[in-house]
Formats: sequence, C-alpha cells, structure tokens
Amino acid sequence: MKFPIYLDHAATTPCDPRVVEAMLPYFTEVYGNPGSRNHAFGWAAEEGVDRAREQVARLIGADHKEIIFTSGSTESNNIAIRGGAQMYEKAGPGSTGRGHIISAAIEHKAVLDPCKRLQKEGFDVTFLEPGRDGIVTADLVKGALRDDTILCSIMWANNEMGTINEVPAIGALCKGRGVLFHTDATQWAGKMPTNVEKDNIDLLSLSGHKMYGPKGVGALYVRRRKPRVRLASLVDGGGQERGFRSGTLNVPGIVGLGKAAEIALAEMDRDGARLLELRQGLEQSITGRLDSTAINGHREKRLPHITNISFGFVEGESLMMATKELAMSSGSACTSASLEPSYVLKGIGVGDDLAHSSLRLSLGRWTTREQVEYAAEAIVRAVTKLRELSPLYDMHKEGIDITKIEWAKH
Ligand SMILES: *Cc1c(COP(=O)(O)O)cnc(C)c1O
Repeated sequence: MKFPIYLDHAATTPCDPRVVEAMLPYFTEVYGNPGSRNHAFGWAAEEGVDRAREQVARLIGADHKEIIFTSGSTESNNIAIRGGAQMYEKAGPGSTGRGHIISAAIEHKAVLDPCKRLQKEGFDVTFLEPGRDGIVTADLVKGALRDDTILCSIMWANNEMGTINEVPAIGALCKGRGVLFHTDATQWAGKMPTNVEKDNIDLLSLSGHKMYGPKGVGALYVRRRKPRVRLASLVDGGGQERGFRSGTLNVPGIVGLGKAAEIALAEMDRDGARLLELRQGLEQSITGRLDSTAINGHREKRLPHITNISFGFVEGESLMMATKELAMSSGSACTSASLEPSYVLKGIGVGDDLAHSSLRLSLGRWTTREQVEYAAEAIVRAVTKLRELSPLYDMHKEGIDITKIEWAKH
C-alpha cells in the first residue's frame, strides 16, 4: 500500500487518466481559438468544445445549448446567484427592498458569500437552518417563500456530510411560485442520476475537479425554455457562452470536463454501489469498535462516498496528527489565528465540542477495500490512545456527566 492514503475526495479528486489522454491533443495540436470562425484551427477547437457540451448536457438531462462553461463551481454559483438576482430584482415604486432570496446556512462559501454580498446591496436573504439530520426540506423552503421571493439556491448534496437535500421537491415548489431555482450540484453531479427537467431545476453548478476531471473548469446549466432564464453578466467582453461568460474558452479543460462527464455517466451505478459498500464497512468498523461516536447527518439520505464522524473526547486536529498516513478533513477550519468549528456542523445543531472532534472521510474511484480497512484500524487505534490520555474520558467512563460539572471560575 502507498502512503498517505487519500480519503479527501470531497475536497478534490485525481484526474482520470482517460480524461488526461482526451485533453492532451488540445494543448499542442488542436490549439485554435474556438472563437476563430473563419479557419480550420478554430473549427477543430470548436468541435472539441461542442462534443464536451453534449457530454455535460447528457450527464444532467439538459440540451447542449443550455451549458455554459466556467472556471468551476465558484464562478458558476456567482453567475447564477448574482446574475439572477440582478436580472429579476423587484425594482420600481411599491417595492421596499430589491427582492427576497432563499438559501441555507449549510451551503458552501461559494453560495453563502455571493448571497451575503447581495444582502449588503439591498436584497433580503433568508438562510434556512435544517434540523440535526442536515436535510434542507421542501417544507422548510415553503415556510420561507414570500410574494417578493425571486430566487432560491439550495445545494443538492452537502460537501461536509454528504447529506442530500430535497432538490426535486424544492424545484417543483419554486416552479409553482414562479421563483428561479438554482442548485449547487458540485458534490452530486457525476455521482448521482440527474435530470434537470424531472428535477425542476433552472440553474445548476458543477465542477470538473470534483468528478475526476481537471481543476479550474466547470459548467453552469441555464434553462432555455419554460422559463427561458436570463442572467445579468458579471464579466463583460467578447460575449462568449451566449454572453453569460465572456473570455476565451479553456479548450483543454472543457474537453477534459466533457470526458469526465461521459465516464461518470457510464460508470455511475457501478461506482456508486461499490463506494456505498466500502463506506458502510468503514462506518461499521469504526463505530462498532468505539463508544461515544456519532455519524453526522441523515443515516440514509447521503451520498455513497462521504461520511462525517464525531469522536467524543478527542480533538479532530489531534486525531489527524495521530494518523498522518491518512489524508482527511476535520470539522474545524483554520481561520487566520483560531481554529473555528465547522459552520455546517454548528448549523445543524452539533455543539462546538463535537464539531471540533469530527472527521470527514470521502472515498473515490480508486479507493480500495485494503485502504479502507487500514484507515479504520488506524483511526480506532489513534482514538483509543488519545482517550487514554483524556481525564474527561475517564470521568465519562466512571459515569460522571461532564456537562453537569461546574468549572472553577477565575
Ligand atoms: C468544491 C465545491 C465548490 C467550489 O468549486 P470550485 O470548482 O472549486 O470552485 C462549491 N460548492 C461545493 C458544494 C463544493 O464542494
């Protein structure tokens, strides 16, 4: 086995060698600008882009004309949310604010921050707070809809827990109320079956590097009929991508994204079933051998390859230090000087202590059973050892309820 073992596929995935192979000619041989409409170099590059547009469209049940290539999900989210809000804002006499937007507190920063910017610019934003299972339900959205709601943005699957939100039902609700619906499908796309028609989606973001494609390329699906979605452009220039996203296209990246989408669609069922089995084995192996552990988020409504586990009486950071041969994420984020507990876990009501004591493990296309078994073993060993050093764990085992302790005040 090679070390360290990569168990952080929710952060990024390796590029599939088949993807790299498809991209290579587009650096040195097919190097034309697809915008060059009057010679063969441009046409050849355009052919590559056209094929990729078909491949990405097929992955999500869209038409190729509805795919806009971007630099990744962060840009896709910004174009959808800020471009959508600007286009559909309620201006004119009688309206108080510029319009109401619905999102959720557990979204990725690439959704939260554009929403917060809009808030500063005069839009009213509701950030929904799901319950302990981490699921953003259609009922939650229903309760927040207002007459002046213009846009709703709810991620399909959460990047920290893998939990799956009620996207098709939320889409149906928004459609019925004439509200534009965007979903950040970065973790979902390429892993789970998607059909933007049946799932009632107007705008969908996806990213190459989360689905075994290259970094720095992604796509935004923009619905063309029923309704025809319009967006204000954020970057002006050559008018590429139907004016939604100016700039010369990243042809090799786009070709790679297309190939990644094709492979994901073809191998989705097999990959998903294999990963689910591996993840369940991993969870059983860890939670079956250690007390005071909890899996965060809904037990069933989750992506097959992600798990998020809290280990009582152990700091996630110490646990990672003790298992350097495993590449994972902890439930803490380094913000400048301090270690902040994950806002996603806090957002579903996990206390600071347990948020700090959590690990996210995310498996991928080349994760083996051997690696998963090694990881479970290493984590159990490290937790056991760290707990041996923990006076709190001792007290817990003696039956003392440490939440009831009155600490001395200084
Ligand atoms: C990774 C990620 C993003 C950011 O995608 P980039 O392509 O890296 O910009 C956005 N949303 C979610 C849910 C993600 O997991």
